[in-house]
Amino acid sequence: MRIVLLGPPGSGKGTQAALLADALGVPAVSTGELFRAHVAEGTEFGRMAAVFASVGDLVPDDATTTMLIERLEQPDCLAGYLLDGFPRTVGQAERLREELRARATRLDAVIDLEVADAELIRRMTARRVLLDGAWVTRADDQPETVRHRLEVYREQTAPLVEFYEADGIVRRVDADADVDTVAARVLAALDLGTPNSTQPPVG
Ligand code: AMP
Repeated sequence: MRIVLLGPPGSGKGTQAALLADALGVPAVSTGELFRAHVAEGTEFGRMAAVFASVGDLVPDDATTTMLIERLEQPDCLAGYLLDGFPRTVGQAERLREELRARATRLDAVIDLEVADAELIRRMTARRVLLDGAWVTRADDQPETVRHRLEVYREQTAPLVEFYEADGIVRRVDADADVDTVAARVLAALDLGTPNSTQPPVG
């Protein structure tokens, strides 16, 4: 299955992507993680991406899409993948659609994780990462940057729900709940039942 996971920053997208990818047996591909790996390796590309990410802006479409398509060409993505954080603009979605068409394939579903802004800000400003043995706030999780990332999401990424509505593949999920509840809702939205389901597979 080829699935896109949409949701504002702080909606639990990364956590749900890992759980769902596991349940489906496909890799979770996160452009945010791919960028952070470049930043950590100190590549030229990483230095460019860091300038945008540190202030909560999107990295330009061309560089982002090229990096993503390269990743999707790896053998582990042949049977499917779960995209976390891509596409983030209509331009990226159009380019992805073209690339998939060229390979005679398409997306199976787009999951939209819905959470109210106030809860997103509360979650993100509370989130910590381990850096050199100390727990710190991620640079792009500072309150001002968080607000800006939400604006960017509303302006540039939220329109993707409508973009994919036209294909009839959007599944909206109320993500204002604990991790397991949201995971069960995501599986149900994909008609895959609950993770602990004892039902035998049909067909
Ligand atoms: P994330 O971990 O998905 O929140 O991504 C962290 C940062 O990486 C974002 O704030 C952007 O600066 C950048 N980024 C990640 N994915 C994309 C994308 N699809 N398009 C543009 N920038 C992205």
